[in-house]
Amino acid sequence: MKVTDHIKNANGNTLFSFEIIPPVKGNSIQDLYDNIDPLMEFKPPFIDVTTSREEYIYVDKAGLYDKKITRMRPGTVGICASIKHKFNVDTIPHVICGGFTKAETEYMLIDCHYLGIDNVMALRGDAMKEEKYFIPTEDGNCYANELVTQIQNLNKGKYLHDDVQGDDGPDFCIGVAGYPEKHMEAPSLKSDLKRLKEKVDAGADYVVTQMFFDNQKFFEFVAAAKAIGINVPIIPGIKPIAVKRHLQLLPQIFSLDVPQDLVEAVENCKDNAAVREVGIEWAIQQSKELKAAGVPVLHYYSMGKSNNIKAIAKQVF
Ligand code: FAD
Repeated sequence: MKVTDHIKNANGNTLFSFEIIPPVKGNSIQDLYDNIDPLMEFKPPFIDVTTSREEYIYVDKAGLYDKKITRMRPGTVGICASIKHKFNVDTIPHVICGGFTKAETEYMLIDCHYLGIDNVMALRGDAMKEEKYFIPTEDGNCYANELVTQIQNLNKGKYLHDDVQGDDGPDFCIGVAGYPEKHMEAPSLKSDLKRLKEKVDAGADYVVTQMFFDNQKFFEFVAAAKAIGINVPIIPGIKPIAVKRHLQLLPQIFSLDVPQDLVEAVENCKDNAAVREVGIEWAIQQSKELKAAGVPVLHYYSMGKSNNIKAIAKQVF
């Protein structure tokens, strides 16, 4: 079922959802199932599965290093299909521009449709680790709005090289990313919001936000989005801080602010077990306020570990 229909059917109640990162290759899917299982009691209508870019590895060849491209994690669509059928839940693969040609993207979307996946999250993806800024893949999409257009074309039966008409074609519901504290590359929040509007005008059906720790920033972002005509559901993304290093890493990677009260609470912790408790408590308070404000869904970044998300969900749902 489409995310937008799940939201409609909830009649104003806030839903619980979360996203997982496929584990690095070599692992068994059982670990993933074991992390998802404890969260199923909160009845997530959908679970997102992220997609990672290709990476360079350096292979030692008799003292000379050979640069090879590899993918570190198993394929998102296969994982989505497995989770969907094991837990009878909708799964949402993240489709990214970086590292994929339009033809490869089309092939991924054909797989999604064939496997009964009704929603996809359309993203540009980040730069490769070695690159300072995002370099579009040759014959790929440059920005997420182009990817949304490609998916909407497919919804109309317009494939890259032919038209296929009929009742059995894809009709994907499309999610896109939004940034309450602006995307790190955007010159201003206003221009980033205009870019978000372009994605919605291209056919995005809902928005999921980057994590934030100050709800006021989310409320202002939603108001500003509405003011420029973005009328699709906006779903807040919540990540509980789990280790002390997050205080440096999260602002560095996601270009966001951590409120001073939270910084001090984390700095006062003796160890990471205490930090985890602080992160859970902060996320509970954030979630309760957002729920009271009537957000359609609370979407949690689980990063593969479910115990802190479970502790939060128990207090909120
Ligand atoms: P875009 O919407 O394309 O925007 C990228 C930047 O370009 C912005 O600064 C925007 O203002 C600007 N821009 C947009 N259009 C134009 C234009 N036409 N001309 C000039 N500038 C423009 N990354 C992954 O690799 N895998 C994932 O699974 C993943 N999941 C995510 C899930 C969520 C909910 C979020 C919030 C992010 C996720 N990301 C993921 C990270 C995301 O890929 C990065 O933040 C990326 O840098 C931007 O992606 P986007 O889709 O927002 O890009």
